[in-house]
Amino acid sequence: MIPLIIPALFGREAAYLRQCVETNYVSSAGPFVTRFEQVFADRTGSRHAVACSSGTAALHVALQLAGAGPGVLVAVSDFTFIASANAISYTGADLLLVDSEPVTWNMNTELLHDEISRRARLGERIPGLIEVVHVLGHPADMEPLLAIREEYGIGIVEDAAESFAASWLEGRCRGRQVGTVGEIGCFSFNGNKLITTGGGGMLVSDSPEHATAARHLTNQAKKSDHEYQHDVVGYNYRLSNIAAALGVAQLENLDDILRKKRDQADLYAEELRPLPVTLPPNASWATPTFWLYSILLDEARPDHVIAQLLDAQIQTRRLWPPLHRQAPYASTERLGGGVADDIYARGLSLPSTTGLSTDDQRRVATELQKILS
Ligand SMILES: *Cc1c(COP(=O)(O)O)cnc(C)c1O
Repeated sequence: MIPLIIPALFGREAAYLRQCVETNYVSSAGPFVTRFEQVFADRTGSRHAVACSSGTAALHVALQLAGAGPGVLVAVSDFTFIASANAISYTGADLLLVDSEPVTWNMNTELLHDEISRRARLGERIPGLIEVVHVLGHPADMEPLLAIREEYGIGIVEDAAESFAASWLEGRCRGRQVGTVGEIGCFSFNGNKLITTGGGGMLVSDSPEHATAARHLTNQAKKSDHEYQHDVVGYNYRLSNIAAALGVAQLENLDDILRKKRDQADLYAEELRPLPVTLPPNASWATPTFWLYSILLDEARPDHVIAQLLDAQIQTRRLWPPLHRQAPYASTERLGGGVADDIYARGLSLPSTTGLSTDDQRRVATELQKILS
């Protein structure tokens, strides 16, 4: 069976885990957490990085610090994994779902910009915060969001859970990595992400105030290490030293992982180009990572294709139903939704484990061709 995507542990993961056990640092204290945060800040080009127990936890804290809360409207991508929206709900804020644009499948930031301008003119309620999600390893178009921030003072939180190490090639974000343009950026190290800590997340920011506050909130808002004094309601959102040890080992291989992903995407593109499918987004102004290689079928019959591929021992998966099709968000206010619906109707994710052999990739393409011809 060729799995959809599994962790690729080909570095010093085992050695570092052994070190945790031998030194007895298996919980929240220990040198790997700080080391992971420092290397991660370095790799993303952020001033500060705060490790968290999950990407969802990082988002929850980031949104709270950026001002999300009861009475606040937060604009978020309609086409995303549900954790992006749930983190907003945890704060008590309201959501405004924003459709995708067809080039990158990410939030149509142009549409959001025009809608905010329209509402502002009419004196209607506008978002107090934007959570932009960079889906499937591809950066979103930030230019309209930067304009919104300047014109209306609306802050930006980036959900970069799926797009660690992706970057912009042109425009005002040129040379920047995803997660470093908003006030706060969040990442996930769940087992299926570009790098994994088993489970975990990271929050990055250039603001020392945000970083200090995030560290405080993720540690039960404990005022000092010597007393049980807490000044606000905090969370147990710390990352363990064991998880961080995995993260440090994974980061040591980041360049290798990124190169393998790019080669993988190149080979898939070469093999799939003749088929009746649309290849994944790859805008001229961005450097995507092709985290989870996903295509659109010309005909909307992904369930049939998935079943056929499974018979051939190949695991694939549909993309997410847009949030407006999920029970908790079915009656949430939204802008458009047709593009997200189309991506869901035709989307298919192919096996994308880092280091997947070229033979396996060719087998995926051959089986897909048989089904689609
Ligand atoms: C994976 C993911 C998250 C949540 O990360 P966890 O570490 O699983 O909590 C949030 N947003 C998006 C877009 C994701 O893909």
